[in-house]
Amino acid sequence: MPPIIDKEKCIRCQRCASICCMDVFGPITKGEVPKVRFPKECWHCRACVIECAQGAISMRYPLPLTILYREAVPLSEGEKND
Ligand code: SF4
Ligand code: SF4
Repeated sequence: MPPIIDKEKCIRCQRCASICCMDVFGPITKGEVPKVRFPKECWHCRACVIECAQGAISMRYPLPLTILYREAVPLSEGEKND
């Protein structure tokens, strides 16, 4: 899922688009709010969120990225024989 830019907070500095190594924003036009042109290329590194001094970017994460990792519980001897 791509980043979301709050147009009210954005000062159109283009720093988010410049730092994105996946080129999710595509070509930028000076003076405009960056557009997310290639959303499927986003790998949710948050570099654009951190780079935006205005706090104008929020992220939507795919469901698998929101699931917490838990250690598997080892089977007991009785369970192994079932
Ligand atoms: S870094 Fe933030 S303020 Fe600058 S263009 Fe991107 S969203 Fe807008
Ligand atoms: S989260 Fe990373 S890959 Fe996605 S748009 Fe921002 S900088 Fe690019």
